[in-house]
Amino acid sequence: MADVSIVSCPSYEPEVCRQALLQALAPVGGLGFVRPGMRVGIKANLVSFMKPEAAATTHPVLLSELTKLLKEQGAASVVIGDSPGGLYTAAYVKNVYRAAGMHETEKAGAELNMDFSQKEADNPEGKIARRFTYTGWLDGCDVLIDFCKLKSHAMMSMSAAAKNMFGTIPGTLKPEYHYKYPNAADFARMIVDLDEYFKPALSIADGVVGMDGNGPTMGDPKPMGVLAASRSPHMLDLACARLIGLKRQDVPTLEAAYERGLIPESWERLDISGDIDSFLVPDFAHIGQKNDVVFFGDMLLGRGKNPFKKALGKVMQKALRSRPVPDGSSCVGCGQCAQICPAKAIEMRDKLPHIDRGKCIQCFCCQEFCPKGAMKAVRPVIARMLNR
Ligand code: SF4
Ligand code: SF4
Repeated sequence: MADVSIVSCPSYEPEVCRQALLQALAPVGGLGFVRPGMRVGIKANLVSFMKPEAAATTHPVLLSELTKLLKEQGAASVVIGDSPGGLYTAAYVKNVYRAAGMHETEKAGAELNMDFSQKEADNPEGKIARRFTYTGWLDGCDVLIDFCKLKSHAMMSMSAAAKNMFGTIPGTLKPEYHYKYPNAADFARMIVDLDEYFKPALSIADGVVGMDGNGPTMGDPKPMGVLAASRSPHMLDLACARLIGLKRQDVPTLEAAYERGLIPESWERLDISGDIDSFLVPDFAHIGQKNDVVFFGDMLLGRGKNPFKKALGKVMQKALRSRPVPDGSSCVGCGQCAQICPAKAIEMRDKLPHIDRGKCIQCFCCQEFCPKGAMKAVRPVIARMLNR
C-alpha cells in the first residue's frame, strides 16, 4: 500500500470527482475499512459561511461522490460534520451548511450532523492536550474520514489534513485553545494530539481548487487540479506541503508529527503513488512563517556549529514573522475581530481595530474570521525581499 496517492482532478464535475476518488483511494487501500452497517463520519472543513466557489471549504461535489462510494461499500449511514469558528449551535451551523452547499450532499444520501453536544476526553497519551472538550457527534461514528481543503494558513503555514482536525473542538472554545497554546509549536503539538486521539481511518485533501494568499478563509481560489489521499493525515500533509513549495520545517504540525516519528524527515522518503512533480504549484502565494532558525543562523554565521546560531536565528525569525494588519479601506468597523481575539489585544477606536503588539500572540483568529477579509496577514518587507 502506498503512503500517499496523488491524482489529477481537473474539475468539480460529479463524474470527474468520482473517478478521481476511485483512482486516489485504490493505492491507499480503498474503502476496505468500511464494513457493512457502519456509520461513517466525514470531518469536512466547513470553517465559516463560505460558498464552495470561495475555496475555503471542502467541495460538496467531492463529499457527495464520496458518500455514494461509501454507501456502495455498505455503509449504513454517512454523516458530515464540522465545528466552524464561532457558535456551535444548530442555528449557526445550519447557516454554514447552507452557504457551503452541503444540502447537495443530502441528495447523495449523507446526513448533516445535528448533534451539537460536547464531550470531555481524557487523553493520557497526549503530549499537550491530555484533557479536552470535543464535539460529541464524533462518538456516534464507527469510523472517521478527514476530508480537508488544501489552503494557506497564517499561523500554521498550511491548512490540510492535520489542521482540519482542530474542528473537533467546539467553535466557541477555539479562541481559548489559541490562548492556552500561543506558541505555534505547542499549538501544533496540540493538533497532533487531536489527530492521534481521533485517528481518522482515511485522509483526503481537496486540492482541485485550493486557496492561497490570505487563507484560510479570505484568500484567493487557486486551481491546482489535484486530489490526494493517505491513511495518515501527517503523510498526506507532507506530500501536500511539497505540492505548494513548503518543507517539513515550514509547517509546525509536520514538525510535531516528525517529533513523534509519525512521518519521515522528508517527502522524498514517502512511497507516493502518482507523479507528484507534475502537480507542483510553484506560484502558490504563502502568508505563513517559514522556519528561518537554521536559514538565518547559516546566513549570518556561516554553516557549521556555532553556539550563537540558534539564538540569533530565533531573533531573526521573530523579526520576520507575519503579523495581522487591518486594511482601513475594506474594514467596516464591525468589531468581530476584537470580540474573537483570545488575547484581548484589539481595541476598536473610531470604528477601526487597533492591535496592541505587546499582547498579540499571532494566532490570526482575527484574520481568519474577519467577515470582510479586511484583516490581512502581512509579512514584513525584509521577509518579502528575501522571498522567505
Ligand atoms: S472583523 Fe474585519 S471588518 Fe470587522 S472590525 Fe475587524 S477588521 Fe474590520
Ligand atoms: S490581534 Fe489577532 S493575531 Fe493577535 S492575538 Fe488577537 S486575534 Fe490573535
